Amino acid sequence: MYHRQRKNKQRIRTKFSAFMMLFVFIFVLVCHIGLLNPDLTASVKTSFQDTLKGLFTNSSKQDTALFYSESRPENTTLSVTFLDVGQGNCVLAESDGHYMLIDGGDRSHSSFVVSYLQQAGITALDYVLISHYDADHVSGVIGALYQFDVGNVLSPDYSADTKIYQSYVNCLKKQNITPVHPQVGDTYILGNASFTVVCPDRYDYEEENNRSLGIQLTDSSHSFLILGDAQSKSESAMLNENLDLSADVYMVSHHGSASSSTEKFLRAVHPAFAVISVGADNDYGHPAQKTLSRLEAQDIQILRTDLSGTITAYSTPDTLTWSTGR
Ligand SMILES: [Zn+2]
Repeated sequence: MYHRQRKNKQRIRTKFSAFMMLFVFIFVLVCHIGLLNPDLTASVKTSFQDTLKGLFTNSSKQDTALFYSESRPENTTLSVTFLDVGQGNCVLAESDGHYMLIDGGDRSHSSFVVSYLQQAGITALDYVLISHYDADHVSGVIGALYQFDVGNVLSPDYSADTKIYQSYVNCLKKQNITPVHPQVGDTYILGNASFTVVCPDRYDYEEENNRSLGIQLTDSSHSFLILGDAQSKSESAMLNENLDLSADVYMVSHHGSASSSTEKFLRAVHPAFAVISVGADNDYGHPAQKTLSRLEAQDIQILRTDLSGTITAYSTPDTLTWSTGR
């Protein structure tokens, strides 16, 4: 009995010594690497920290710092201006001297839109895109169609039973313009940029907002997603079609109403910036607090025309630069 216990003690001691030797060996080895190759350990440490960071943050997230500029940067390849037309939408895109007007705000802002374009030295518009025929989008377009040489009118393929729609149709007749109704996937060139139609997938949506013609506009550096008043049903269709919806700048659909910009949709777009075109103290309660919360939850910087006036984004190969209040 005693003998066996002694043997066991000896075995434990031997195992313990072997373990200690191994431990000391590993310890010395680690110290040795650390002392002889501080750069190696530093780089391992950094990459480890990066891996850790990557686990907790979305590493593909862009820099959401707002860079303001009074003037247009010289190396601008695409500029996108969100005109302050109160409660409505009006966007002017420019690339290499080519212009596109997307919507025109309501009737009360029609002369502002025309004079803004004239002051910018514009005589011709390569494209006029009408998202849908609600008055706060199509009214101001009519003045521009009378005033400027227009290459192509892109519009959704439905008609509305409204006075403003009839004025628009009369305007097309007088100006001898035949509108084009593009399909999802159609791509057009605008100077050094291009845009692709992403919605609507169909025109039998009961809610006209979901028939909004929407595009992803991009140069080689940045992209913009502009979808008129598209709501969650149209957003679901875009997600189901597995379209590339990624954008640096998302024009918040339907002026920030709660029925647009679902959490899932925002994740797919993954924008750094959101622009809301909205009138101060409007009757609709736009933008909805729910939408603002969804944008904030995804760390998206919000810019608003009711707070900042007209907002311009200048895309250069390095950065997006913003200008407001003009
Ligand atoms: Zn609208």
